[in-house]
Amino acid sequence: MAKYQSIHELMREYDTEEKCLDWFIQYRWPSGVVCPRCGNHHEKGKKIYHFTRGTMKGTFKCGACNFKFSVRSNTFMENSQIPLSKWMMAIYFVINHKRGISSYQLARNIGITQKSAWFMIQRIFNIVNSDDDVLSGTVEMDEVYIGGAEKNKRPDRKTMNQNKILGDKISVLGMLERGGKIVLRPYEGKQYKHLSPIIENHIASDATVYTDESVLYRGGVGGRTHDTVNHNQGIYGRGDITTNRIEGMFSQLKRMILGTHVFVTRGHFKQYADMFSFRMDTRELTEFQRLALLMVQVNGSRIKYDDVSCHGNPGTNKWFPKYGSKRKIVL
Ligand SMILES: [Zn+2]
Repeated sequence: MAKYQSIHELMREYDTEEKCLDWFIQYRWPSGVVCPRCGNHHEKGKKIYHFTRGTMKGTFKCGACNFKFSVRSNTFMENSQIPLSKWMMAIYFVINHKRGISSYQLARNIGITQKSAWFMIQRIFNIVNSDDDVLSGTVEMDEVYIGGAEKNKRPDRKTMNQNKILGDKISVLGMLERGGKIVLRPYEGKQYKHLSPIIENHIASDATVYTDESVLYRGGVGGRTHDTVNHNQGIYGRGDITTNRIEGMFSQLKRMILGTHVFVTRGHFKQYADMFSFRMDTRELTEFQRLALLMVQVNGSRIKYDDVSCHGNPGTNKWFPKYGSKRKIVL
C-alpha cells in the first residue's frame, strides 16, 4: 500500500470492478476464500468455486455446503448494490477525514445520493468497535457532555423536561490509556453505579486511574489505584497526574460532531465515538496504513459472523483475525 500517495493513484490502479473485487478479497480472505457459512476453505477439504462470468459473476459457491456468497456477504457491504469502487473510496474518505465527513460531502465526492452516502457512513462506522478494549497502565478518565445548547435550539426541538444544566446532552465517559487507546462510552445517570459497568469492562483492575475531583469518584474507581486532579483550585495536574490528554480528545470530539455531523442521536453516538477512537488510535499512521488496518477488521468482529454461521464452527476463527491481532499486515 505504501506505493500510493493519494486516493487518485489508488483508484487509477483499481480502475475496474474486477480489480476492486480482488482488493476486497485480499483483505477479507488473505489466505484464500473461506465459506462464511461452514468455514470450508481450500486447505480444509472441498473446493470453493469462483464464478467469473454469467449472472453469477463475482460470486462464490462452497463445495461443502453449497452456500452461494460474495465478498460482500456477511460484511458491512451486505445487500448493497453500490459498486465496490465506490465503497473503496467511501472507506478511504470516512476514515481519513480528520473531522469526519458528512453524508452530503461524501455524496458529492463519489457521485451517489445523500441517502446512500448516509447509509454507507453508518456501515463503515460499524466496522470498528472498541467493545473488547481493556485499558491498562495509566488511564485518564473524565466525563463530557455532548450536544447543542438549549438556548440555540428551535422552539420545537427544545427539551421539554429540561435538566437545567445538561438539557438533553449526551453524557460520555472517556478513558484514555497513556500511549494507548481511547474508549468513549455514552451513559445515563449521575452516579458512580451508572459508570461502574463501563469502567469494569474497559479498565484493567491493576490500572492507575487519574480523574478530576468529581463527586462521582469519592468512593474510588472500583478498587483501582486512583489519583485526582483538582480543577476548581486552578491546579491542572500535579506533576504527572493530569487529565489533559483525555480533555484534549474531548475538544477534538466536539469539533468533529459539531463541525461535521451536526446531529448525533443518542442511539448512534457509540458508533461515532468508536470511529473517532479508531482515528485517534491510528493518528500516527499514514492514510493508507489506516485503510489497511481497517480492512483487516472487516474480517473480524464487526461482521456478525455468528448470525449466519449455521454450525458456529469456532475452528474458523483464525481466518477472521481481530483488530490488534499479531498477523502481519502488508502496508
Ligand atoms: Zn460452506
